[in-house]
Amino acid sequence: MTADRIHNISSDSADDKPKKLMVILGGGESGVGSAILARAKGFDVFLSDNGKLTDEHRQTLIDYTIDFEEGKHTEEKILLADEIVKSPGISNLDPLIRKIREKGIPVISEIEFAGRYTDAKMICVTGSNGKTTTASLIYHILQSAGFNVGLGGNIGKSFARQVAEENYDYYVLELSSFQLEDIENFKSDVAVLLNITPDHLDRYDYNMQNYVDAKMRIIRNQNIDDAFVYWVDDPIVTREIEKLKPPVSLYGFSETKRENSCAYTENDQIYINVKNHMFTMEQELLALQGTHNLYNSLASGIVAKLLDITDENLRQSLTDFKGVPHRLEKVATVRGVQYINDSKATNVNSCWYALQSIRSKVVLILGGTDKGNDYSEIEDLVKSKVRALIFLGKDNSKLHAFFDGKVPVIEDAYSMEEAVNKAYRLAEKGDTVLLSPCCASFDLFKNYEDRGEQFKECVRRL
Ligand code: ADP
Repeated sequence: MTADRIHNISSDSADDKPKKLMVILGGGESGVGSAILARAKGFDVFLSDNGKLTDEHRQTLIDYTIDFEEGKHTEEKILLADEIVKSPGISNLDPLIRKIREKGIPVISEIEFAGRYTDAKMICVTGSNGKTTTASLIYHILQSAGFNVGLGGNIGKSFARQVAEENYDYYVLELSSFQLEDIENFKSDVAVLLNITPDHLDRYDYNMQNYVDAKMRIIRNQNIDDAFVYWVDDPIVTREIEKLKPPVSLYGFSETKRENSCAYTENDQIYINVKNHMFTMEQELLALQGTHNLYNSLASGIVAKLLDITDENLRQSLTDFKGVPHRLEKVATVRGVQYINDSKATNVNSCWYALQSIRSKVVLILGGTDKGNDYSEIEDLVKSKVRALIFLGKDNSKLHAFFDGKVPVIEDAYSMEEAVNKAYRLAEKGDTVLLSPCCASFDLFKNYEDRGEQFKECVRRL
């Protein structure tokens, strides 16, 4: 089967009524899910991906008799669409998307499309960092409390596919800025915005405000009956709230008690004050440790209390949550050195939190595909905590330009094995070897999971 072809099975419209043509751009999890939902809702569907589909996705489209092409975008066919669902991986700056918009064809996201077909309550989580952890924790809390709930968006099975095939009363959705870009009427019942720090600027004309605007779309269409959970100490989020004055109910969280925070810590206890009820719990019982994870737990706790989950259930779930792989994941201790896999740290801010949460000296492995990074954010932590830096990327020149002369030992590595072996040699007893790359993984790895798995494998072989 060649990659460059049109697969045309479903010209089977038996009834005479002309169907609307829904074109789906992108054939990843989001696009395939949208295609399945569109088919289930009676559209003519055409999916187009200019890359290669995975075998699994291709087979799914064949099984559902959905027209598709891969290895190209056939413009004449795409421009016949009544509406277009754009996968989050395709930029609004893409020339094809510009052409589609110039023709006046509506372009929406999978989230907007699927949101039309469900009345379930939407709990939506966004932020530059912490989305997966927080969405997974909220899902865990709701599921443990017996809710009929689905988890989707950036995680696992797409939201659209779940709407087509499941019947949930609640959804917890992890939403990236890309997914938020093209929502119009979609509304979150509870929106969680964890933080906004620079990320993905390559997709936003290197203009931070464009990225901020995309994130703030999470509160679009919300009203006073809806909740907006946010980090009170985030200067960008608070500035946006002042500017936009959204007509929503605000629930802030912060490390210590602040004027607008209903969730905070004091004397090693966490406090969550929602609906005139105060929930308390010892901080050290939280399954997720580290300051950044405290925020994630506080945000999740607010959501739980908004949904009337009992104190007992919430306490239990915050205690027994297992965490998510590749996020500050402890791999092993080898000869007194701890190895931590934080492969998901694909931007500078998440590396900052990782470094900040570690008490020992660190051998830090970082590098990969740079997305317009400014490393000055971690400079002080690197200078005070890092024994050695190992740059793991095809092109480490930007890292050298910034860090050379600031750390006693800097080495280059061009494979995970080389990086881990160098770290093993450089680390001293009591140190931590931390993979927290600040960068995307696509230069040397399939994705961040592949990078994290390779790290764990190499550590196990030490
Ligand atoms: P996302 O889905 O937004 O990428 P993850 O939960 O996958 O977030 O975590 C990504 C990285 O960010 C990890 O390295 C993790 O340690 C770090 N992180 C998690 N939560 C936060 C937070 N609230 N603030 C800053 N960094 C965080």
